[in-house]
Amino acid sequence: MSRIASVLLPMPLPEAFDYAEPEGMDLAVGDQVAAPLGPRLMRGVVVGLRDAVGGNRPLKPLAERLDEPRLPENTLEFVQWAARYAVDAPGGPLAIALRGARAPKPKPVKVLELTGAEPGKLTPARQKVLDAAAAPMSPADLARAAGVSSGVVKGLVDEGVLAVRQIVAEAAFDPPDLSRPGPELNPSQRASAEAMTALLDEDRFGVALLDGVTGSGKTEVYLEAAAHALAADPTAQVLILLPEIALTQAVIGRVAARFGAQPGEWHSDVAPPARRRTWEAVASGRCRIVVGARSALFLPFLNLRLIVVDEEHDSSFKQEEGFIYHARDLAVVRGRIEKAAVVLASATPSLESLRNAETGRYRWLRLAGRHGIARLPDIELVDLRVTPPETGRWLSPPLVTAMAETLARGEQTLLFLNRRGYAPLVLCRACGERMTAPDTDSWLVEHRYSGRLVCHLTGFSMPKPDRCPHCGAKDSLVSIGPGVERVEEEARLLFPEARVAVFSSDTVFDAREARRLVESMAAGDIDILVATQAAAKGHNFPKLTLVGVVDADLGLRGGDLRAAERTYQLLAQATGRAGRRDRPGKALLQTYAPDHAVMQALAAQDRDAFVAAEMEEREFARLPPFGRLAAVVASGTDPGQLDAFVRTMAEAAPNAEGVEVYGPADAPLGLVRGRRRKRFLVRADRTVDLSAYMATWRARVKPPASVRVAIDIDPYSFL
Ligand code: ADP
Repeated sequence: MSRIASVLLPMPLPEAFDYAEPEGMDLAVGDQVAAPLGPRLMRGVVVGLRDAVGGNRPLKPLAERLDEPRLPENTLEFVQWAARYAVDAPGGPLAIALRGARAPKPKPVKVLELTGAEPGKLTPARQKVLDAAAAPMSPADLARAAGVSSGVVKGLVDEGVLAVRQIVAEAAFDPPDLSRPGPELNPSQRASAEAMTALLDEDRFGVALLDGVTGSGKTEVYLEAAAHALAADPTAQVLILLPEIALTQAVIGRVAARFGAQPGEWHSDVAPPARRRTWEAVASGRCRIVVGARSALFLPFLNLRLIVVDEEHDSSFKQEEGFIYHARDLAVVRGRIEKAAVVLASATPSLESLRNAETGRYRWLRLAGRHGIARLPDIELVDLRVTPPETGRWLSPPLVTAMAETLARGEQTLLFLNRRGYAPLVLCRACGERMTAPDTDSWLVEHRYSGRLVCHLTGFSMPKPDRCPHCGAKDSLVSIGPGVERVEEEARLLFPEARVAVFSSDTVFDAREARRLVESMAAGDIDILVATQAAAKGHNFPKLTLVGVVDADLGLRGGDLRAAERTYQLLAQATGRAGRRDRPGKALLQTYAPDHAVMQALAAQDRDAFVAAEMEEREFARLPPFGRLAAVVASGTDPGQLDAFVRTMAEAAPNAEGVEVYGPADAPLGLVRGRRRKRFLVRADRTVDLSAYMATWRARVKPPASVRVAIDIDPYSFL
């Protein structure tokens, strides 16, 4: 009997399509196939096979089974689970899972090899080439290695002593060396590592929250757990997720040092051919350790035993565009599907994870304090109402004094300001016009390095004009407020002899540049680093003893659900960079609100009191982690149609116990890329299946072609 194959395509289609399996194709679930869709052939994945029973209308046959690795069933189950949870088409997460499979294959390269033939005449230069040619390499590399001109190499090729061969460079993915000892763990680290290895030995799904201050050795502890997982099973794979590309670089270095082998690297900055190699090596089980950003969670692991989510509280784990998901939450789901251990590590865990630890759903592993003699920094609040900076400056006298002392001791300062560019606002002195993006509700940010005004939301940019576009006044545009570039300018003015650098996503645009800057900071080649959050997290800079937070109040101004929590986490992280070795550290927080609960908790280093107060507020309001939230953003180019649609949508909201629907309301960001935006917010009790509720609601309405509807389960952005 012939069979029907259900094929999932990486496109926004509601479900898998059925095709006929041609005679002899012999498909299995997970196979990649070429499926006809309209006039085209699309790459898809077989998610189901069943016998064809008579009477069905004839189905189109599949064109081909691709000679590509099969997607493991667990990966497929994960993709489908993620889609249902996000109330989105499974094609979105499937596209992420296939990203590596669809990347171009690495191109073959030309290498030279010894043929065994003797050269007619053996000069010293030729001898050098023959010695260097033991390993195959490109003609240019060979000439360089031998220290001879390319003519010498060419002569040997012409004589047939060397022959050209095309090879596709295979990434080595050497097996980890598990005989290397890790550091001697201190008692509380050992207790946590043992709890994790016990979890791994149970060989079933379980989650541990690894909770320890910055510098307590969380990385050492989870690397120990990774070593255990890899040693227990020769096919075991380990995934370490990090929120930022810059952080992956540091952890890749530590993994390589611990296991004597490079891990697979996975993030948006990995070149497509390398991505392809890593994807295939993960699918074949050859690559056993992956360090990556959130999308690494969708790789086709064969035997994933341990997932580590480092800095688990970080909101960068939330993907806000395209397929919307939170990698920490999905890591727990993937762990359940794989029956693997999941470790969530943080110095400032999210309230969600803390709640799960409090209620016993997660094992709570607490590390006592900083490892060895390193101490947490002293944190002082600088009341900007009492000691303000001079006009047009951003660094207050107490901070400047502390910087001077730090420099004099030959130590390093980190100035933290979570604002890219030179100035967050440009306005006209003559008419008061604020420079905004043409099709988006946002101010244009001035960037001095590039000389442009940039919309951080959409990427729109334009040269800074010399006349006000509104009133035409010449040279009337003034820069308001500081970004990192402006603070850098001030630091250079104050300390002309100091070596000052900036670290933000505009100045450090790829992984290599990030690594270079992190290394020169670690080596002490920089005196003052001005950085956004890109550098404020996770790094170890031994000579960094002063952290100055330029605007501690910045994160509190938005006022959303997590504003206080996020500010606390970010500032605890940033201040935690100071004094990580034997030198005591200090952090100064510049604030206009020293009495705010967040500032008080930071100064007193009393995380538990802050968390308790915040939990109480959330519980009272029945907000996460005590309730669930979902957002709907409807956007459209035609305001009339959008208004009519959101009214219909409001009426169509299903009635359900324990669910409240708020809205529609104009989104705070009312216009993005020319589209007007309206929002609903849904709050539900924890017992409600919110995804099912949202799916029912969505199925009841059909937006007109000009309107797009995006559902965001557990939103982090309320804009
Ligand atoms: P965290 O991940 O909690 O911020 P790390 O694992 O980065 O902490 O540890 C901070 C520093 O202390 C690192 O340089 C690390 O190598 C060192 N360290 C931590 N634990 C030990 C240990 N048991 N023995 C030696 N060095 C350690």
